[in-house]
Amino acid sequence: MHWYEMKLSGRGQTNSGISQVCRPERTADIAKYLEQVGKNGIVASGSAGSYADQALNAGGAVMQMKRLDCIRSFDAQTGELVCEPGVTLKTITELFAPQGFMLETASASGQHTLGGAIAANIIGCNGHKRMSLAKSVNWIDVVLADGTTVRASEKENDTLFKAVVGGQGLLGIISLVSITLLKRPQENVAVEKRRIANLDELAETLKAVRKTADFCSFWIDTSAGLDALGRGILKTASFTKETLPASTFSFPKYKMILPGIVLCLASFPLFKRLRYRLTATKKTKIEAYENFLYSSDNVQVFPAKGIYQLQISFSEAEGPQALRRILTELAQTRIGACRAELVLTKEDTLSYLGAALRGYTVCFDFFRRKGIEEFLKHLIVIAGEHNGRVSVQDDALLEPRNLVLMYKNLEKFLKARDTYDPQKKFDSDFGRRLFSGEKKYEQ
Ligand SMILES: Cc1cc2nc3c(=O)[nH]c(=O)nc-3n(C[C@H](O)[C@H](O)[C@H](O)COP(=O)(O)OP(=O)(O)OC[C@H]3O[C@@H](n4cnc5c(N)ncnc54)[C@H](O)[C@@H]3O)c2cc1C
Repeated sequence: MHWYEMKLSGRGQTNSGISQVCRPERTADIAKYLEQVGKNGIVASGSAGSYADQALNAGGAVMQMKRLDCIRSFDAQTGELVCEPGVTLKTITELFAPQGFMLETASASGQHTLGGAIAANIIGCNGHKRMSLAKSVNWIDVVLADGTTVRASEKENDTLFKAVVGGQGLLGIISLVSITLLKRPQENVAVEKRRIANLDELAETLKAVRKTADFCSFWIDTSAGLDALGRGILKTASFTKETLPASTFSFPKYKMILPGIVLCLASFPLFKRLRYRLTATKKTKIEAYENFLYSSDNVQVFPAKGIYQLQISFSEAEGPQALRRILTELAQTRIGACRAELVLTKEDTLSYLGAALRGYTVCFDFFRRKGIEEFLKHLIVIAGEHNGRVSVQDDALLEPRNLVLMYKNLEKFLKARDTYDPQKKFDSDFGRRLFSGEKKYEQ
């Protein structure tokens, strides 16, 4: 059993801390490591793709799960895949897409581990059709604080299941996963990009898109105000029988590693205006499904000062009004988001600490600079006034009072945590920020 002292940080570089780190190589090692955990508890970490403090535990222990990446079985009849939690989404796609299978959720990045994606209950740009990853999970094995392994699903130990899914590692370690891969209807998708002039046009267009497109995401020009408020570029895609054009030459996919200054440029109104204007009014192309997936992985930006992410879900009824208010604030204050994207969601999430509601999920990235924290807290208040839920999965600024207001199943989550980990052996910077009560666990 080896422990290493390491400085770890969240993907957004806003949070970091020194921890004792272990890297189990077999699932049987998990319980052995748990026996050695000291008074500041332990939390699992996958690819450390969450932006803030979700996989950090300063002064405590972190269990890195990436070495547990064995595929245990795959049933080509049913699509059932049983694998360890350190397998990445990209690996699953690379292995099973050639056999005609796909993951339920089309997330923006494939770098995340399956365990991390379940613990965050990720949604994708097909959220209006397929909902969150948890829906395709048949069962998970969870190693609890006392070292025992319990199987949980929507039918068996459902309270544990709903608390672990989206629970950010605060109940136990996911050690094995059974997930159903879907039969991919076609090999290619027809991708369409079109400009949307303002929020009214967006609302009308999205009503139709919800029924027709398989995938949908909307880039928002947050600098536009007045009549152009909410303008942007809508990207939709649907599976198609059409083949790739014979003349198509596709460049091999390279990952561009860019300095943080690029993000700074992306938040300038001029850049946004150009992006909007330079996009054709309407453009369609045929792409292989695997090329279309994981759009965020083509570019990796290293922000020197850090990035905050604010992801908020709104119901269908409240969404348009809430979005109008938030975008008006952004346009008037000229606080540029370096990324603003909207996806549709089909139904309320099943997980106690999940944010998604049937309606809209909007996601903003902001460059860290003076005064931004206060501004984002102000947006969190606006979200609460519209019964929105700020997603905990990448957030750095939520406070306990926000959770009480936004998460109607919070009590159920806290009760499950008290039941399965009364001593709070599983804890993290995130856990202490939002659920700091008396710390009872001692070695
Ligand atoms: C470029 C990029 C694109 C993204 N796109 C999307 C998107 O499209 N949709 C979306 O919903 N999110 C998205 N996210 C957020 C990201 O997918 C989630 O935060 C995801 O959890 C990260 O997975 P990870 O393996 O990196 O987990 P980590 O960040 O390492 O951990 C995330 C949480 O999971 C817990 N955890 C990890 N492994 C386990 C385990 N085995 N058992 C128990 N708990 C565990 C950790 O304790 C932590 O609380 C994106 C993030 C980035 C950086």
